[in-house]
Amino acid sequence: MFSPVIIIGAGAAGLMCAISAAEQGKQVLVLDHANKAGKKILISGGGRCNFTNLYTEPANYLSTNPHFCKSALKRYTQWDFIAEVDNAGLPWTEKKLGQLFSDNKSEAILNMLLDRCTKLGVTIQLNCSIQSVEKSGDTFSINSTLENYQSSALVIATGAMSFPTMGASDFGLRIAQQFGLKITATRPGLVPFTFDGPDKQRFEGLAGVSIDAGIECNGQRFLENILFTHKGLSGPAVLQISSYWQPGDKVDVCCLPEIDLFTALKTHQQSSPNKQLQTILQQYFPQQVVNCFCHEIDTQRPLQTYKHSELEQVANQFQHWQFIPSGTEGYKKAEVTLGGVDTDDISSKTFEAKNVKGLYFIGEVLDVTGQLGGFNFQWAWASGWCCGRALSIA
Ligand SMILES: Cc1cc2nc3c(=O)[nH]c(=O)nc-3n(C[C@H](O)[C@H](O)[C@H](O)COP(=O)(O)OP(=O)(O)OC[C@H]3O[C@@H](n4cnc5c(N)ncnc54)[C@H](O)[C@@H]3O)c2cc1C
Repeated sequence: MFSPVIIIGAGAAGLMCAISAAEQGKQVLVLDHANKAGKKILISGGGRCNFTNLYTEPANYLSTNPHFCKSALKRYTQWDFIAEVDNAGLPWTEKKLGQLFSDNKSEAILNMLLDRCTKLGVTIQLNCSIQSVEKSGDTFSINSTLENYQSSALVIATGAMSFPTMGASDFGLRIAQQFGLKITATRPGLVPFTFDGPDKQRFEGLAGVSIDAGIECNGQRFLENILFTHKGLSGPAVLQISSYWQPGDKVDVCCLPEIDLFTALKTHQQSSPNKQLQTILQQYFPQQVVNCFCHEIDTQRPLQTYKHSELEQVANQFQHWQFIPSGTEGYKKAEVTLGGVDTDDISSKTFEAKNVKGLYFIGEVLDVTGQLGGFNFQWAWASGWCCGRALSIA
């Protein structure tokens, strides 16, 4: 079967690309090996799809070439996707930090995209496993378990390795390599940290506890919650910093960054000299956190018996806490894959491979990764839309 445009991957980027190309009159076929389109959209944002971010900027993306994402983000902005959502009559809410969530389930966003595909005559073929892709002259042959397809343009929108239970695979990277494109090193991003040895023993009793924190690594800093887990640390601040972390790097945490704990303890010492240190600390942190962070310090004496240097040491336990994660929970729990198809080999305007006419890469398979907060979907929409427009004039 021949279709002028074939898109492999019916996720966020692939569906948006199909809509954009079909709007310009292109006949589009989308192939996906999963039994349902857009599975990651369905599970995203805790089931409410954080579909974009009001403050999307190129600075919210990690890439070997930080300039690559600029053109697409400028041509298809957060406001364009918000207009799509508004036109579909779907209500949304800004939760925090510009993060826009669907008021209805994530399915509403997916259905909006699928409805547009249906109205524009896009064909979506699910349960289609691709066995090989070849190019002969100007034609791509896609051999699948269902049938052999041919196209003059082939778009790879298969995402990457994060969350394999949702259909993620390294297929796109393998196709890139097959056609001679470079791959930048890949690793899990937006992923919880793990502890082992004494750290694991020390912190596992805190599983389920979350604290406001400032977290820093390699010159990046995020202010949000951290969440202790049975395996280590998670929560938005940890997911954010994990994308900037490399094995062996130290992470700095300041619990309750909005207060200066040392100054606060000195003030309490003046006003309540007979109160036990632990009673005061429990005004700021749950008791099990106090016990864990001060495990080598006697916190049961009256405040007046502590020297300032001792109070400073106590404050530092919470506000200058440093640890080296033993690792991360890996692709199984990572929201994204860092690295991917090297953007040097791709046009930032059309998303076509510079040396392979008719072959395009969009979305997460590329070496462009957003921070937490709706930036990854915005990249999928923007790269998908721009590629779709380019296909219509190719
Ligand atoms: C738990 C979780 C929550 C998330 N929440 C958010 C959020 O709220 N906001 C946000 O911005 N980002 C979020 N993300 C990230 C976001 O989902 C991805 O960045 C985005 O889906 C990438 O879009 P994509 O189209 O490039 O890839 P995907 O959405 O992964 O789509 C790829 C498609 O290709 C198909 N495919 C893969 N391999 C093959 C193959 N070999 N043959 C055929 N088909 C194949 C897959 O089945 C899939 O349908 C979340 C991710 C996870 C895992």
